[in-house]
Amino acid sequence: MFKKSFLLIAVSMFIIVLAACGGDEANGTSSDNEDKVQVVTTYSIVYDIVKNVGGDKVDIHSLAPIGSNPHEYDPLPEDVKKTTDADAVFYNGLNLEAGNAWFDKLMETAGKAGDDAPVFLMSKDVEAKYLTTKGKEGEEDPHAWLNIENGIKYAENARDGLIEVDPENKEVYEENAEKYIAKLQELHNQAVEQFNEIPEEERVLVTSEGAFKYFSEAYGFQAEYIWEINQENQGTPEQITRIVDIINEKDITGLFLETSIDARSMEAVSSETDVPIMGKVFTDSLAEPGEKGDSYISMMEWNIKTIKDGLSN
Ligand SMILES: [Zn+2]
Repeated sequence: MFKKSFLLIAVSMFIIVLAACGGDEANGTSSDNEDKVQVVTTYSIVYDIVKNVGGDKVDIHSLAPIGSNPHEYDPLPEDVKKTTDADAVFYNGLNLEAGNAWFDKLMETAGKAGDDAPVFLMSKDVEAKYLTTKGKEGEEDPHAWLNIENGIKYAENARDGLIEVDPENKEVYEENAEKYIAKLQELHNQAVEQFNEIPEEERVLVTSEGAFKYFSEAYGFQAEYIWEINQENQGTPEQITRIVDIINEKDITGLFLETSIDARSMEAVSSETDVPIMGKVFTDSLAEPGEKGDSYISMMEWNIKTIKDGLSN
C-alpha cells in the first residue's frame, strides 16, 4: 500500500515536470510571454519610457489609446482583466489620471488599491507645480514629462519598480535605464542650447491646454493657454477673449496646437488675432507607431524643433 501510493506520487510528479518542460518546447512564444513581466501603463508616454527600461523582459498593455487624452478614460473589460493580472502598473500621477477618478476606480476593481499593490508612480520625486485657475489652486499640474529632466526621473522610477517586481533581472533594468537616461540627458542639453538661441522675451508659448508649466520653467519660456487643464469647459467664449487679449498685448507671433486636442478653439484664436498656428506639438500622447513623435524622445525632438522654428524669425 505504502509502495503503491509512493509510486503514484512519483509518477505524477514526473508528469508535472514533463508537462512544464513540454510547454516550453511545444509553444516557445507563449511561454516566453508568460515569463515576461506583465505590465500595465496608463498612457502612451509612460508606456514608452517603461518599454525602454524594461526592454524584452516586459510585456506591456497600455490603457488610454494613442492620440487620446489620458485625463479622461473609460477602461474596457480587457483593461480590467489585464490590470487584474498585471505584475506591475505604472501611472503618471500628479492628478493626470483623475478625470472621473477613472484610475482609482480601475485599481479598486482590479484588486490593486492596497498599499502594497505593485502600482508605481512615475512622477515620484518630481517637484509638483500647481494650477492657478481660481478654485483649482490646490490641484497638481500633471504635465511633468515635458521637462526632459523629469523624464529622467520617470525612467528611474520605471527602473526601480521593475526591479522590485522582477529582482532577477535587476542588472538588465539598470543597464537599459542607464543607456536611456544618457540619451535623455543629451536631449535635454540640446533643448537648452536650442532655446537659448531665441531671445528671452520672444520665448512665449501659446497652446490650447496649459500643459507647458514644467517645460517653461526648464527651458525659460512663458506659458500661455486657452484653458489651463483639460476638463469639461474647454474653449469657452471667456477663455477665448482672455487669450486673445494676452496675444495682442504681448505681441505674440506664433501659436501652437497639441496633437491630442480638437483644433477648433486654437483656430478661432488664430483667426481673431491674425496670428498663425506654427505647428503641432505633442503633450499628452505620442504619435501613431511609425510616425514622427512615436516615442518620448522623438516627441520631444519634434517639440523642440517645432517650437524653435516657429518662434525664430
Ligand atoms: Zn493634458
